[in-house]
Order: sequence, then C-alpha cells, then structure tokens
Amino acid sequence: MKKITLLIPAYNEELSLPSLYKELVGLMDNQPNYEWEVLFVNDGSKDKTLECIKELRVSDKRINYVDLSRNFGKERAMLAGFDYATGDATVIMDADLQDPPSLIPEMIKYWEEGYDDVYALRKDRGKESWLRKKMSLVFYDILQRSTRIEVLPNVGDFRLLDRSCIEALKKLRESERYTKGMFCWIGFRKKEIKFDRGNRTAGNSSWNFFSLFGLAIEGITSFTTVPLRFATIMGVIVSLTSFIYIMYIILKVFLWGEPVQGYPSMMCVILFLGGVQLLSLGIIGEYLSRVFCESKNRPTYIARDYNGEKIYK
Ligand code: UDP
Ligand code: MG
Repeated sequence: MKKITLLIPAYNEELSLPSLYKELVGLMDNQPNYEWEVLFVNDGSKDKTLECIKELRVSDKRINYVDLSRNFGKERAMLAGFDYATGDATVIMDADLQDPPSLIPEMIKYWEEGYDDVYALRKDRGKESWLRKKMSLVFYDILQRSTRIEVLPNVGDFRLLDRSCIEALKKLRESERYTKGMFCWIGFRKKEIKFDRGNRTAGNSSWNFFSLFGLAIEGITSFTTVPLRFATIMGVIVSLTSFIYIMYIILKVFLWGEPVQGYPSMMCVILFLGGVQLLSLGIIGEYLSRVFCESKNRPTYIARDYNGEKIYK
C-alpha cells in the first residue's frame, strides 16, 4: 500500500488544529487505499500547539510530529518535514485550512498518473490587503525577469511531491531558504491544479509587511545575481555620463572661464551619486550577508523531539 504524508508546519496554531484534524480525518477515511501519515512540524510554538498535537497522537497513531527547538520559520520547518517524512508522496499544507484538503484526492489522482509535483495555483488569494497582493505580483515579476528558472506566481507551498522530489529537496540545505523557488529549481514533471484560497479559519497570519519584504529579498538574492549586475551597469552608465560632463566642464572653463555658480547642479550630482552608491552598497551587502550566513555552515534547524523521542544526532 502506498503511503502519503501530510506535512504541516505549525506555529501557534492551537486554534486551527481541532478543525484541521477533523477535516484530515474525513479525508483519510475517504481514501482507505492509502496508508496515511500526518507529520506536524512544531516550529517553536508559544501556545499549546505541541500539547494539542501530542493529545491527538495518543488516539491516532497516524499522527507524527517533529518538535523544533525554537521558531525557525516556515521555510526551515518544511525542510525538517522533508527529513522526517516517510511517505511515497508528501503533501505540504498550512495548518490554518487555507489550503483545502478537498483538493488532495485530485492531487493524488495526477500523482498516480505519473506526475511528480502537483501544485495548486491560487485563482483567488483569499482575504489579503490590496497592497499585499500588488506587492506580491511586482515581486514575482522582478524575480521572473531576472532568472532563467521559471518561478510561478500565485503558487504557494500547497502541493503534492513524489518521494524523488523530497529526496532532491533534502539535498538543498542552505539556511537562507526560498522553498518556492526550490520547487521550480529541482524540476521534475509538474502538474497544475487551480483553486480558490480561502481565509484563515482561526488565529492570525504570522507574516507582516516586513517579514514578507524579507522573504521577497530572500527570494531574489537566493536565486539570481542580476541585482549585482544591475549595480555594475549603473556604475558604468554613471561613470560614462560623468566623464562626458567633466570634459564639457573643462572645455567650458578654458573657453569662457567660470564665474562661480552651479550650486544646484552640484547638489544634483552629489545626491544622485550618493544614492547610486548607497544602493549598490546595499545590494552587495545583501549578497555578502548570504555568504556570511552560509559560510558559518550551521545546521538549518535543530529538532528536539520526534514522536516523543529525544534527538541527539
Ligand atoms: N508557520 C511556521 N513557522 C512560522 C510561521 C508560520 O511553521 O514561523 C506555519 C503556520 O503555522 C502555517 C503556515 O506556516 O501552517 C503558513 O503560515 P501563515 O498562515 O501565517 O501564512 P500565510 O497563509 O499568511 O501565508
Ligand atoms: Mg495562512
């Protein structure tokens, strides 16, 4: 019998878990041809999420969990999930029921047909602010224009992955992670299904503007070095223009002399150059910080406990 793992990273989800579990039981009982595993990754929750998971496991041995030693963020929590998932296929989903479990049978159908990565495309993003939707589209646009790998807009982490994809993802162990890009990077046969993303059932989204902005920078810097190229090109353009302008100034001084003037133009040049320099420094800094973090070579996450057994390795 084939085994399917439902991988659910959970951070402060005590309010969502009961309704999530109810839905999952419905799903699993409707598909008796498969063996099921529900793998929760408790990402250092500060509420009763872990207790809640443990309680569910007492009566239902299909539930497994990994408990991380602190909050590592969803991207790393997912890697922990890949490491501990045992299924022939793994479905990644959110704990807040924004990813409807009713879509999973369809995903399985395509998986059985031979697709390795069946992902859900959001037709509608649910209740999100206008700014967030807009920003997200702009971000995908920048990312797509600057990399050869196709990164799909409006596709989240909700997807079914064959074991072979999971094994591939386990090899990508960088600590600054942008998993959405990794799904595209690993390749494999992909299939898209569409759905309407609902609203959170309970609790609050743990992302705010700054963390999303961080994720966007993460996505761009971990997938392309085009911004560095941009800094170089800006440098070349500005240098060339300045050179021509300098020639012009020198000529002008020799031909007509220079009655002191030109405060506005001076200010413009100084401010413009200052801006370009700071921007370029910032871009270099972003990449440098990635190098810095990766060069420490720390483990991507630390797990404390798997199904009640302490982890020492
Ligand atoms: N999550 C996590 N660690 C975090 C933040 C979130 O494991 O630091 C989990 C969270 O419990 C949920 C999923 O990631 O299952 C998506 O989080 P959220 O609903 O806050 O994000 P959104 O749906 O707004 O993108
Ligand atoms: Mg959510």
